[in-house]
Amino acid sequence: MNLGLKGRIAVVAASSQGIGLATAEAFAAEGCRVAMCARNDRTLNAAAEKITETHKVEVLAEALDVSDAAAVSGFVSNVVSKFGGVDICVTNAGGPPAKGFLACTLEDWQRALEFNFLSTVYFAREVIPHMQRKRWGRIVTITSITTKQPVADLVLSNAVRAAVVGLVKSLANEFGKDGILVNNVGPGFTATDRLKELARARSVASGKTEQEMFDSWAADAPLRRLADPREVAETIVWLASERASYVTGQTVLVDGGLYKGL
Ligand code: NAD
Repeated sequence: MNLGLKGRIAVVAASSQGIGLATAEAFAAEGCRVAMCARNDRTLNAAAEKITETHKVEVLAEALDVSDAAAVSGFVSNVVSKFGGVDICVTNAGGPPAKGFLACTLEDWQRALEFNFLSTVYFAREVIPHMQRKRWGRIVTITSITTKQPVADLVLSNAVRAAVVGLVKSLANEFGKDGILVNNVGPGFTATDRLKELARARSVASGKTEQEMFDSWAADAPLRRLADPREVAETIVWLASERASYVTGQTVLVDGGLYKGL
């Protein structure tokens, strides 16, 4: 299948590791020019160099915090100066800590809103005018299965990700006329550092080992395994492609069937 992405300009936020990195790699493999960001410049630059070497595409990498609106604005300006526009924007950030409601501080709520909701607002505000000019654009948000089914001890994610879905649907409605498609991808349990962090938190709380936590998450999914980050990335790339040209305002779960609803 020809995805029609060769030469497109793809911004992938929070992409030095995990699902973000797999997504940047998957766009590069399709011949896109890729702009990556994350807070740690050493990890980010190493990831960017590897992608350039492997896929022989142009890559821009910039260290920044996605919860800093001015930094996001400067980053998008730099992408436009270097590549001449933005066609695709994938929003992402590290997940909030695993906690129950009474354990969450007000600072936890503030940070979850900034990292996992407002960062998407910051990117959308910057990229949409460029996409409108081209009358073509794709925004894909990375959230979680929590947008469909709350997960125990992830109250911050359960509550804040819902706002992203409201935003996605609103942007899809408002900018469909400009050829801009906006969708949300909700990963289930995916083998990344984030999942190791969750396993550590849960094993302290439950007395189970981290391996037992991984095994129980895998057993919950009909596919009986965790996702590889590449499997989430390839769904994102498809949603950004010409082959998903009539899909907008949707949440697509990549969860091995974990979501129990219809
Ligand atoms: P990860 O922790 O492996 O990677 C997160 C990436 O984001 C890293 O590159 C990190 O440097 C970057 N980052 C974090 N905070 C940032 C910030 N403020 N500014 C810039 N960069 C930042 O996580 P992951 O597993 O790849 O998850 C990506 C997203 O998907 C997270 O929001 C996570 O909660 C969500 N998610 C993950 C899973 C899973 O099982 N891994 C499941 C559901 C949802």
